[in-house]
Amino acid sequence: MSAHQPYSFFQSVERSFDKAAKFTNWDLGILEQIKACNSVYQMRFPVKRDDGTIEVIEAYRVQHSHHKTPCNGGIRFSDEVNQDEVMALASLMTYKCAIVNVPFGGGKGGIKINPRNYSVYELEKITRRYTSELVKKNFIGPGTDVPAPDYGTGEREMAWIVDTYASLKPGEIDAAGCVTGKPVTQGGVRGRKEATGLGVFFGIREVCNMVDTMQKLGLSPGIAGKTVVVQGLGNVGYHTAKFFRESGAKVVALAEYEGAIYNPEGLNEEEVFQHRKNSGSILYFPGSVNLANTSDALELECDILIPAALENVINGENAPRVKAKIIGEAANGPCTPEADDVFIQKGILCVPDMYLNAGGVTVSYFEWLKNLSHVRYGRMEKRFTENMNSRILGQIEEMSGKQVNDIERKFILHGPEEVDLVHSGLEETMITATREIMDIWIANPSIPDMRTAAYVNAINKVANSYGELGIFQ
Ligand code: NAD
Repeated sequence: MSAHQPYSFFQSVERSFDKAAKFTNWDLGILEQIKACNSVYQMRFPVKRDDGTIEVIEAYRVQHSHHKTPCNGGIRFSDEVNQDEVMALASLMTYKCAIVNVPFGGGKGGIKINPRNYSVYELEKITRRYTSELVKKNFIGPGTDVPAPDYGTGEREMAWIVDTYASLKPGEIDAAGCVTGKPVTQGGVRGRKEATGLGVFFGIREVCNMVDTMQKLGLSPGIAGKTVVVQGLGNVGYHTAKFFRESGAKVVALAEYEGAIYNPEGLNEEEVFQHRKNSGSILYFPGSVNLANTSDALELECDILIPAALENVINGENAPRVKAKIIGEAANGPCTPEADDVFIQKGILCVPDMYLNAGGVTVSYFEWLKNLSHVRYGRMEKRFTENMNSRILGQIEEMSGKQVNDIERKFILHGPEEVDLVHSGLEETMITATREIMDIWIANPSIPDMRTAAYVNAINKVANSYGELGIFQ
């Protein structure tokens, strides 16, 4: 809470929830139960620094909802971590999982440290100690609570967690499923790195395939030929730009913190990435012009704007100058509630973060399933499918007396690898989630925006699952 923000992050999530709850018919008691954080574990533990001093570390794990188990959600390493933030992020995970039909409750963890101030050895000791604290209280496990990477953590930390968990639980056959976002060599799944950007692309593509929605926005259906602006050339922005370009859209501008570049003919994200790596800046990329301020990119004429960097970048001040027809929230919280009000007035469609950037958690779910089944995706069916396809193609060629070309032959014969199945599962997930939210919005035109429709969808699903469990009888 601050002078500018009269309510905390968790309270602001509750406000969005309450706004959407008005469009549902659930009992107040059920709504209160959905909103509440079920378990909050606050801990302190010591770590011996490399210089021999002892430091007491503050850390959290929050399980927002047990309507589905296990809980799932990232672990954040940041000196901004506090209980309210972890509770808010855990609750958002509950709603995000419900929207994309991932059968997990929401969870989140946080350790209040700036990882840059610690050696790798110290980080390993902190991560392993945090894991053993979670084990002590049964706050981690493939059937109870499954952490994942978040701000300040990645594959390395997840590998430390699974190793610590497995050593404390000898013989637990599903131990690898205690955490997701692991390296492939430790039980991770192929296709996770690009998952969020690919999910953003699939979600926006589905919106662009909706003829009525496109008509209202004054756009033609489809992705090909659309102009796209991307803010942030990190993991999410890079992959989003890549999949749009490969599908025939023109990425006309890319923005990074040091500046932004524009080329109406379209930019290739990999060439720009290499230029930035070699020159130290995105600016002066051959064939493009530099914009005066990096934030000017957000106000360019374009069909689709993808903020994929930070929160609060589009707010009450600059939203009136945004000219995009569609905003795809790849980052978490890039648009403020004041910006949402402006978009409603201007008829801009804002596709909300809560489901649009759910590619990461969706693929986490696939990783967990892989760990429980103890088999790589594609192992059982790849060869069978290839043999079958080869036979079918052979028969068709024999009967028709014609041969397909080499490119088509390769495509038809190809049996699914793990990455193909993960991408395909993600595509199905994002298409279904987009349609479900749009159907709710169309059925109730008094819902003001797609964000509220997404919340309504989440509330209905969580409330329904409490009904299934018979908890309130
Ligand atoms: P990242 O650190 O890889 O990339 C962020 C990029 O934004 C960096 O290249 C950074 O230089 C750039 N940036 C910083 N300030 C900027 C500014 N003012 N203008 C333009 N660019 C700026 O992070 P990421 O993993 O790509 O995450 C980006 C956003 O997406 C975050 O909000 C994150 O919470 C959200 N998100 C990420 C994932 C995931 O799987 N990585 C999943 C869901 C949501």
